[in-house]
Amino acid sequence: MLMCRDLAVIASDYIDGELATRQTLSVKMHLMMCRDCRTFIGNLRASTGLMRAHSSGRPNEELLRKINERVVEALEERKSGKDNNE
Ligand SMILES: [Zn+2]
Repeated sequence: MLMCRDLAVIASDYIDGELATRQTLSVKMHLMMCRDCRTFIGNLRASTGLMRAHSSGRPNEELLRKINERVVEALEERKSGKDNNE
């Protein structure tokens, strides 16, 4: 089973359609079950689009990686908070 952290690592490739079919399916399955990651992919897609618009078609991979790391941290903080309440 794909974890949120794994998904965040390959998210930009997923958006670019660069994953192998099997990986793409794992991502889609995870997205069906995980609302946090759906939000994450949505945000990443939006920021990727913005970056492309501003940088003549070239995504800033370093920036993407930083966004990924931030979102993973935020997701994990939120999850550990939830676990304490439920
Ligand atoms: Zn997830």
